[in-house]
Amino acid sequence: MRRESDLSWKTFLEMISSLSAQFVATPHHKVDKVIQQALDRVGRYFNADRSYIFLFSDDARLCSNTHEWCAEGVTEQIEGLQNLEADIFPNWLRSFNDAKPVHIPQVNDIPSDSVEYGILAHQSVQSALMVPMNTKDGLFGMLGLDLVRTHKSWSDDEIAAIRLLAGNICSLLQRQRAEQKIDRLAFFDTLTGLANRSLIRERIRQSLRSSQRSSLYNALIIIDLDRFKSLNEEYGHLCGDELLSQMAERLRRFIPESDSLARLGDDEFAVLVDSVSSELTDTLTRVKKLCETLNEVCTEPYKLDGQRVHISISFGISIFDGDITDVEVPLRQSDIAIRRAKASGGNTIRFYDNHLEVLSVQRTSLLQDMRQALLNDQFELHYQVLVDANQKPVACEALVRWNHPERGLLLPGVFIPFAEESGLIVRLGRKILSLACEQLQIWQDDPLLGQLPMSVNISMKQFRDPGFASFVASLVDFQPQLCRQLKLEITESLLAVNLDDVITTMDKLVALGLTFSLDDFGTGYSSLSYLRSLPLSQLKIDRSFVCEVAEQAQSRAIAQTILTLGTNLGLDVVAEGVETPDQRDELVAMGCRIFQGYLFAKSLPAAEFEALVRSEDIVG
Ligand code: C2E
Ligand code: CA
Ligand code: CA
Repeated sequence: MRRESDLSWKTFLEMISSLSAQFVATPHHKVDKVIQQALDRVGRYFNADRSYIFLFSDDARLCSNTHEWCAEGVTEQIEGLQNLEADIFPNWLRSFNDAKPVHIPQVNDIPSDSVEYGILAHQSVQSALMVPMNTKDGLFGMLGLDLVRTHKSWSDDEIAAIRLLAGNICSLLQRQRAEQKIDRLAFFDTLTGLANRSLIRERIRQSLRSSQRSSLYNALIIIDLDRFKSLNEEYGHLCGDELLSQMAERLRRFIPESDSLARLGDDEFAVLVDSVSSELTDTLTRVKKLCETLNEVCTEPYKLDGQRVHISISFGISIFDGDITDVEVPLRQSDIAIRRAKASGGNTIRFYDNHLEVLSVQRTSLLQDMRQALLNDQFELHYQVLVDANQKPVACEALVRWNHPERGLLLPGVFIPFAEESGLIVRLGRKILSLACEQLQIWQDDPLLGQLPMSVNISMKQFRDPGFASFVASLVDFQPQLCRQLKLEITESLLAVNLDDVITTMDKLVALGLTFSLDDFGTGYSSLSYLRSLPLSQLKIDRSFVCEVAEQAQSRAIAQTILTLGTNLGLDVVAEGVETPDQRDELVAMGCRIFQGYLFAKSLPAAEFEALVRSEDIVG
């Protein structure tokens, strides 16, 4: 027969039918295990390198790799293949929607300019078979087999047998979903799909236990809508529910761990922030910062029934560590805090203890210092080089430093968060952009430095400032070289709300010739759906993935996915925080072309940066 495997065709059919029989009797908590076994057996039978299942979202727009079997020595990819937009493989999607399998005996036979070719060739796949799982409601999933080391053409009867298997897996998964749904009702809120009070209570219990070991602080934040009752009366209960759902969705984008975010009751949400820090002040600063960001995100106007509705919210926070043993304590304390917040008129953040006052004294003096520093020109820019795979400089990133008269050179981590919080970032940001442009002008005629693009970091508040685009425009003043060299780095947090406004501002600057980079990519929302709609030219893979890329399969998969998707979208992809040759080599092997990190150079004052670029001697 035509199969490479030593099993006979008859044995294969027996295997398929015995697996299918087993499915019928599988309880829902064992479904994943049984599917895993099936993938294993089918994968081995066909000498495949990988067998896998993807499931589609209800609207079939997103898909995720849910089960994967890999042959010995083959790297797992599942972690990096979550929430992909299904239309990144339009041709396959069409076949799947028509309930037709995709059979690729030789990858070289499919058009080399298709996205699908890119996806397979990138993973060195030689042959592939993918069979869709369709239900009466539409496309449900897909079962696939990849061969890397050999070629294979599947016969019609083999394909039919795999389809049968896929069909049975599909029924099994559908049954599992239905049963899980019943379980969910006990722990999740039906309106928003968030965890309910019982589940968050369980999570607080776990946090208490782990704090006893780690002695880290945790925070429980209660968020409450101001004047929800009158909103309900004015717009009706359906609109009220809609508002809560939209707000839950915004929160969910920020807090992806499903069990750290809950709806406690009517208009009350809770966020559990685990293991924040071992320092109380640090914990307070971070939690307060988080609340401020959540406040911005949640109070952007809502569209309800065709109207724009403005709301305000209040926060009540309790900070707790492992000394507390009763789960009710954090709940009770944040409840007291939220009631105090409401009593003072709402639209505020209240800690249960008097923590804020401690913080605010520190902040006031820092703020005064910073205002003074702006007047006295104490801020300066350092530059970190970006290199290509041959260590050649290809760009630089401007990073702000505060030359403090008493405290020495301060890093942005110390003052940028305060500048953002106080709004001073708008002025500081303008200063930074002016300094960057001055430097570009100094380097303008230099054959090397005059060519290097320069990235400048832009904070969310700064970008949102209504005068931002016109300020930048006046700064570059139609000088084509400046516009070409200036790249603005924004972060995903900017994209949480009012994407249209963000795009409008970006478009204005892109029209002048400026470019945009999306910084710290991978740390924000898992969905990549907005990438396509933004006029970006670059993605920067966050340092947290890069630093584990040589050791951790999950980070590797994330980095690989960002690279593949970025490249498919025509974007430059930069790996930042590269510290070791191993990390660099691993990234080169994945197709990364631009690198930034201590392996090549730290950020340097302008004169030293010039010397570095001119020396053509960047080691790494
Ligand atoms: P970022 O934009 O992600 O900048 C990269 C940070 O990583 C810099 O820290 C850089 O020195 C550091 N870094 C670079 N390579 C390595 C490496 O190999 N290993 C490690 N461990 N770190 C590396 P820096 O200068 O302290 O800046 C921290 C953050 O402060 C920046 O992160 C950015 O978010 C913010 N920031 C810096 N300058 C500005 C600015 O001018 N404006 C605004 N709004 N934010 C800024
Ligand atoms: Ca940056
Ligand atoms: Ca970054």
